[in-house]
Amino acid sequence: MHFRFPEISYQKQMLFVLLLMPAVLCAQDYLWPTNASTYMSSSFCEFRNGHYHSAIDIKTWLREGYNCFAIDDGEIMRIRVSPFGYGKVLYLRLKDGNTAVYAHLQGFPLNIEKQIRRKQLENKRYSIDWSPKDLKVKKGDIIAYTGRTGTGLPHLHFEIRNTKGHPVNPLAYYDQIKDTIRPSLEQLAVIPLDPGTTVNNSYTPQIFDLLPVSSGKYQIKGRIRIHGRAGLALRGVDRANDISNKYGFYRTRLEIDRRPVFQITYDELDFATTEHIFRALQAGARGYLLKESAGAEVVEAVRAVNIGRRHLSQKISDKVVNGFVGQDEAKRDQAPLARLSPREREILQLVVEGKSSAEIGHTLALSPKTVETYRSRLMKKLGLSNLPDLVKFAVRHGLTPLE
Ligand SMILES: [Zn+2]
Repeated sequence: MHFRFPEISYQKQMLFVLLLMPAVLCAQDYLWPTNASTYMSSSFCEFRNGHYHSAIDIKTWLREGYNCFAIDDGEIMRIRVSPFGYGKVLYLRLKDGNTAVYAHLQGFPLNIEKQIRRKQLENKRYSIDWSPKDLKVKKGDIIAYTGRTGTGLPHLHFEIRNTKGHPVNPLAYYDQIKDTIRPSLEQLAVIPLDPGTTVNNSYTPQIFDLLPVSSGKYQIKGRIRIHGRAGLALRGVDRANDISNKYGFYRTRLEIDRRPVFQITYDELDFATTEHIFRALQAGARGYLLKESAGAEVVEAVRAVNIGRRHLSQKISDKVVNGFVGQDEAKRDQAPLARLSPREREILQLVVEGKSSAEIGHTLALSPKTVETYRSRLMKKLGLSNLPDLVKFAVRHGLTPLE
């Protein structure tokens, strides 16, 4: 992440960057949502293609069919079935007004499955969006089974939304995730933001290795002398016990001479905005990198920023970025996709996921021949003549699986 140092025109070196793990904030007594595991493959608010991850992903060991439990008494308010996105997903309204969301499910208990099947036959479609009436459940009831629908690898995507409908950090309610390991930092980049800015007498970004001095403390070899406006980029990861997965930071804070200058904390997410990125850009940040961005990309990013270009991690969609910086390039680029019908988009998505015409036909309740007709029509509309081009197009438009 790069952000602007407000008015840095001096050479103070007292820089504290604090990275914290989520603390257990609330006393609600929710049940852990599954018997699959108490390990995460992704944390809340990690960055995805143009959006923040609104949930935690719970590991299911590449298998499907683990139980999902009602985390408290409540009512199943919505079930959606789709070949994309969340796949099969269940929304449970809890008695305190919060909503628990379970996504990428394999299926549901028999009584629910029967009703879904009936809806599908009624509508002659695989995809349904159903708001059951009076489907009350008790804490601990099995309400679904973990799966991989709408996604690549099996896992349980688990959200808790507050009464405003905003996803909140589920770990605020649980202490099951064993995490006694501090986030670790690797590098700090100091990036000139104006043509006249120098960092250690250089006009180009300087990268410093962060050397651990004691638990949670790092030092930079030598001094950093900044003249003019500069930005900072930090590289590092958070981990939990007994597992190799890497997570995003929960909180990042910058202090200069013990005075807080910048802070970002992931407690709650508002779907309506991608505000953090926008705010960072608005505040003068020229780049924004994802946690998995490799070292090479950091270097590339600071170089780009240095010559006055913006650099955002490739996975941050063009749409978000260009929407913000006011370019209409993305809009023109999006146009072909907008020409597709919803059904053609469905088929495009499944083709890109590597499904055969027969498989797509099975998923969407169409004959393979119909699927092929759709496919050739959509490729014509997009001006594409072969599969590699189609895949490139899909990657460019963020159609590859996200969750
Ligand atoms: Zn997820």
